Amino acid sequence: MQITFQQVEYRYSFNTPFEKLALQDINLSIPTGQFLAVIGHTGSGKSTLLQHLNGLLKPTEGLVQVGEHEIKAKEKAKNLKPVRQKVGIVFQFPEHQLFEETVLKDICYGPMNFGVPEDEAIQRAKELIVKVGLSEDVLQKSPFDLSGGQMRRVAIAGVLAMNPEIIVLDEPTAGLDPRGQREIMDMFYALHKEKGLTTILVTHSMEDAAHYAEEIVIMQKGRLKRKGTPEEIFSQTDELFEMGLDVPDVVRFQYRFEKETGKKLPKTCLTIDE
Ligand code: ADP
Repeated sequence: MQITFQQVEYRYSFNTPFEKLALQDINLSIPTGQFLAVIGHTGSGKSTLLQHLNGLLKPTEGLVQVGEHEIKAKEKAKNLKPVRQKVGIVFQFPEHQLFEETVLKDICYGPMNFGVPEDEAIQRAKELIVKVGLSEDVLQKSPFDLSGGQMRRVAIAGVLAMNPEIIVLDEPTAGLDPRGQREIMDMFYALHKEKGLTTILVTHSMEDAAHYAEEIVIMQKGRLKRKGTPEEIFSQTDELFEMGLDVPDVVRFQYRFEKETGKKLPKTCLTIDE
């Protein structure tokens, strides 16, 4: 499913004295199966951009197209269920949204709400609990008896249980220890590779953007400031510094080395293992 933003503008509290311009002039195309990272300061418009992908927010100008579904400014409310089914969003701290008595019920809740038969939903839960790095016996536990990291994995399994074609990740590893962060990101990367899942990652981590993404978008004050491959973005570190974005030495080193020598370093050089 191709995603297109055309001249998108978004104003919070539109037509009220509290109106706040949060996005402007956004033109962006995300091809099916791409891994895109979105970076930028707090308040630059990243979350607002993400929420347009499944119609949680509707542009105040312009058009967002997700596959054959169009979400247009000034248009009457549409049934967004088909888009919501295709676009899974892992919000920040998704474990705060767990609520069922058992992990199994929590993972099955979304798909069953969308008409997936119970036995199929259970089957998906059994496969996904392992995929997110937990064992099947966790399914019968209360989500509230798990550790924070385990709860995060359960919440992620719940989003994946909808079988989305596009997955949107808003700081999915915030607050986890370094090993947990790496495991979760590697899992999303593997899913993207195996299933061709379009993956859109909002992150503060330049290492993650450099390590996992095929393209990077930089947001600044509600505008799309730059878009390019990690090589293109990180070979212009002066510009990143001017924007106040801090590029870790390890990322700078990699791109300077590659530019000067014409040799490629393996991607694993970008992350320091504990
Ligand atoms: P980011 O995700 O990059 O931190 P946001 O998309 O959350 O940025 O915010 C973009 C801008 O919109 C900011 O100026 C922020 O203060 C404003 N904003 C975000 N949410 C709301 C809201 N619910 N009402 C009014 N303004 C908001």
